[in-house]
Amino acid sequence: MAKLTFLGAAGCVTGSKYLVDAAGKKLLVDCGLFQGTNELKERNFKPLPGDPKTIDYAVLTHAHLDHTGWLPVLARDGYRGPIFANPATIELTELLLKDSAHLQEEEAEHAKRKKYKHHEEARALYTPEDVDPVLKQLKPMPRSGGFDISPEFHVESFDAGHILGSSSLELTIREGGKKIVVVFSGDVGRYGQPILKEPTTPPSNADVLLCESTYGDREHQDGDPEGLLAQIVNRVVKRGGSIVIPAFAIGRTQTFMYYLRRLEDQQRIPHLPVYVDSPMALSATALYVKHKEDHDLEFAREEGSDGKGDPLNVHEFHLTRTAEESKAINNVKTPCIIISASGMVSGGRVLHHLVQRLPDAKNAVILAGFQAEGTRGRALQEGAKTLNLFGSAVPVGAEIVEMGQFSAHAGKSELLRWLGGFPAPPKQTYLTHGEPAAAQALQAAIQEEFKWEAAVARYLDTVPLGA
Ligand SMILES: [Zn+2]
Repeated sequence: MAKLTFLGAAGCVTGSKYLVDAAGKKLLVDCGLFQGTNELKERNFKPLPGDPKTIDYAVLTHAHLDHTGWLPVLARDGYRGPIFANPATIELTELLLKDSAHLQEEEAEHAKRKKYKHHEEARALYTPEDVDPVLKQLKPMPRSGGFDISPEFHVESFDAGHILGSSSLELTIREGGKKIVVVFSGDVGRYGQPILKEPTTPPSNADVLLCESTYGDREHQDGDPEGLLAQIVNRVVKRGGSIVIPAFAIGRTQTFMYYLRRLEDQQRIPHLPVYVDSPMALSATALYVKHKEDHDLEFAREEGSDGKGDPLNVHEFHLTRTAEESKAINNVKTPCIIISASGMVSGGRVLHHLVQRLPDAKNAVILAGFQAEGTRGRALQEGAKTLNLFGSAVPVGAEIVEMGQFSAHAGKSELLRWLGGFPAPPKQTYLTHGEPAAAQALQAAIQEEFKWEAAVARYLDTVPLGA
C-alpha cells in the first residue's frame, strides 16, 4: 500500500522532506535543512528515521536550502541514488550547497574562537567535502512536461513562480495496475511579479495534494513596491545612512536589483554602490540569461532591448567574495546597500554587517523574505530592542522595514487562487510548510471557500496514498 511520511516542513516552514513509499520503492521529494529555533536546528544533527541507503530516488521542487540543504548529510549517511531536478535548480543547488557549507564552517569556526555556542559542540553540520558527492548525484530532468523517474514513478513539472527553476510536481505512482496521483505544491510564488513566470496550478485530478501554507494566515502589504523602495532609499540616503538587506545572492536580490536599476534610470533615486557579499558571489545575470525558460516576456524584452546594460544590475555593482573584501565594506561610510546571506539572519556574513550597522539610527534593514519562528529576522520583525550577534546584545537603532511586497511566497489569497486552479477537489489535502497558525488558517479558508477536506500535516506522521 502506497504511503507518505512527513519528514519535515510539517508544523514549521523548513526541513521539507517527504518520503513516498510505493510499489516496493522509496522516493524522497525535497531534502531541506531545518532552520529557526534551536529545537528545529538540532533535528539536522539527528539521523533520518529510516536508513538513507534504502531510498531509491530523490527529486527536488526548487533550490532553496530549506528544500535542498540536507542533501550533503543524506549522501554522507549512505544515499547513493540520483537526485533529479531541472537545469536551473541543479545550478542553483550547487551554489547554495557550497555557500551553505562555507557559511556553516565560518560560523562554527567563529563560535569555537569566541566560545559562545554551547550546543552542537560548534560543529559544522557539513563541509564542502560533503557537498561534492551530491553534485555528482544531481541529474537533469525537463523544466516542464513529463519525465519517468523509474517504472514506478512519473513526474510532471509546472512553473511555481517562486525562484528560478521552482516547480510544483505532479507525481504519478504506478502500483499493482493502479495509478495514484500526488501533487506537491513546492513553494508557490507570486502572481504579477516581474522577471519570473506566473505560478501554474497543475491540471491534475489529484488523489493527494500537499500544499504549502507559509502565508496561510496573512496577506502581503499592499502598495507599489517600486515607489516604496524609492521612498526608503531616499529617506536613508538623506540622513546619510546605509541599507542592509538579508538575502542570498540569487532570487530576491535580482528583484531588488531590477527595481533599483529602474529607479536609477528614472532618476528617482541616486546611483548608490550595491555590495552583494557572499563567498559564492557571482553576477546572477549569466544564470538568468542561460535559463530563459524561467522568465516572463516583460523581462526578456527589456533584456535585449538596448545595449545600455543589464536590467539585473545597478550602475555601481560590487561582488565581494573573500572575507577581506567583506570586511572592507565596514570602511564604506557613505550611503550604500549591502545584500548578504542569510535571509532570516540565522547565520552568514550578514551578521557581521549588522554588528556594524544595526546600532546606528541613520541606517535601515529591509526584511523581505519570510522570517521563521526563532530566527533573528523574526526578532527584528517583532521589534526587538537588541539582537544577539556573536554572543553580545547589539542594540537595534536602525530602522527596520518590512517589505512583504518583495516576498517570493504567495500570500493567503494567492494560495487560494492557486488551489482554485485544480479541475476537481483533491481527494485528500495536507497542508505543509507553515507554522501551526498559518496552516490552520489556510485549512479553515479551504473548507470555507472550496468545501474540501484538508488536514494539517504532522511531523513524522505516515499517511496512506490513494484508496
Ligand atoms: Zn523556497
